[in-house]
Amino acid sequence: MGLPKPQAKPEIKYTKLFINNEWVNSTSGKTFPVVNPATGDKIVDIQEGDKADIDKAVKAAQAAFQPDSTWRTMDASTRGELLQKLADLIERDALYIASLETLDNGKPFKDSYGIDVPYTIKCLRYFAGWSDKIQGKTIPMDGNFFCYTRHEPVGICGQIIPWNFPLLMMAWKIGPALCCGNVVVLKPAEQTPLTALYTAQLAKEAGFPPGVLNVIPGYGPTAGSAISHHPDIDKVAFTGSTEVGQLVMEAAAKTNLKRVTLELGGKSPNVVFADADLDLAADMSHFGLFFNMGQCCCAGSRTYVQEEIYEEFKKKLVERAKKRPVGNPFDEKHDSGPQVDKDQFEKIMELIDSGKKDGAKLECGGKRIGTKGYFIEPTVFSDVNEDMRIGKEEIFGPVQQIIKFKTMDEVIEKANKTSYGLAAAVFTTDINKVMTYTSRVKAGTIWVNCYNILRTTCPFGGFKKSGMGRELGEYGLHQYSEVKTVIVNTPTKNLVGTQLSERD
Ligand code: NAD
Repeated sequence: MGLPKPQAKPEIKYTKLFINNEWVNSTSGKTFPVVNPATGDKIVDIQEGDKADIDKAVKAAQAAFQPDSTWRTMDASTRGELLQKLADLIERDALYIASLETLDNGKPFKDSYGIDVPYTIKCLRYFAGWSDKIQGKTIPMDGNFFCYTRHEPVGICGQIIPWNFPLLMMAWKIGPALCCGNVVVLKPAEQTPLTALYTAQLAKEAGFPPGVLNVIPGYGPTAGSAISHHPDIDKVAFTGSTEVGQLVMEAAAKTNLKRVTLELGGKSPNVVFADADLDLAADMSHFGLFFNMGQCCCAGSRTYVQEEIYEEFKKKLVERAKKRPVGNPFDEKHDSGPQVDKDQFEKIMELIDSGKKDGAKLECGGKRIGTKGYFIEPTVFSDVNEDMRIGKEEIFGPVQQIIKFKTMDEVIEKANKTSYGLAAAVFTTDINKVMTYTSRVKAGTIWVNCYNILRTTCPFGGFKKSGMGRELGEYGLHQYSEVKTVIVNTPTKNLVGTQLSERD
């Protein structure tokens, strides 16, 4: 089935704050512009939420979370049906939503339509299925006591999401939160609020009660910070930079010790041994870095290539980068669109300059494309080392670093020579190398002969400064429940928890 024709000018339907299932203006009356990264032109002005609006959203969420509320007294399976309905509505409006995502974020429509929207739907359906399977245990005890655990929702979840996968990151956050029975105050990134606002309206249409999902667009230091400092928010889930992740954790620690999960940056090592299938490794290494214009927290931005194949493999990577079509993201022939905004564009160009100054060899790219929008040529540097800024800092752009290595021990030491630990990859046909690498490299996800393979069923998250906690899969669920232990004094000796042979 071919790609449908995108809506190049999708209508912007929602520009206000979504609180208690209503569209409202910001308390301050302020707005902020949302810009099309492909042109640099304003798309629309959006109501700008700040602390006062987060307070209002928290009040609505509190009301929705009262013990006798519709949401709290609803069958767990009905929560699952609501999530399924939301997924159905996203599926119904997939063409519009994918077009809106491309307009707002700049990612190619073929990715919005072929990856972001379908994986959003899969994520919501996956967590819908968990809704009535969240259960505690009965636990053996000595004495006349009966012990069981209840997995209860944490409560009010503040969720702060980034701009690189606006819709998908929303699904990764609200899916597990809502299936476990929590209520949500979500702040989309200021660069890309449009699909989150549209999804909020779909949640209302699906039948989520008022106050269960609130969406407040706004800036990080105001609206975002109000979430992480809020004394009545029970948990904060954040995806974004390590620096802001540290601020979020500090705020949580200083206020109410709210639960914190963080999905932060990376500088992931991608190691190619001489015995690898080199064409597969080159395709995957290219995809692992240039997908989504390099704006992936798990991007394979340190490509380690074994000495024997260094020149040959470098040539393959440079060929692929030179051929990558970049341009209007609505045009199917383009694999890359613009960077998300001017700030990111400037940061990347500055890092490219630093690479040249630090002595790395620029193999291709390195320049802006055109004069409008934030397009950058796919860029490859060779002869990089980890002391250069491009060898250690997260670039979050279409800039690939190639580094030479000789032995397994050396490359493992280099792979781990970073404060990050989000992802890693290895390309080899030798199972022994796979086992050594996967056991010794410190990363939350390790890909073997592939890259950027993420599934709703598989946990994702970081070691070290790449974050804490896991999202997705059953592991991701645990972050959205509190375990309550109940111990009941039983009048006569209870059979629960005793062995058959111990029975009277
Ligand atoms: P950021 O960390 O500033 O923003 C991410 C989210 O956090 C946004 O919603 C933002 O509004 C919010 N935020 C910002 N300051 C905040 C604060 N003080 N308190 C609470 N929330 C706050 O990221 P950015 O400035 O958009 O990008 C900077 C760098 O972050 C990128 O170059 C990239 O390296 C990294 N990044 C990583 C991811 C990821 O998926 N891990 C995503 C986006 C950006």
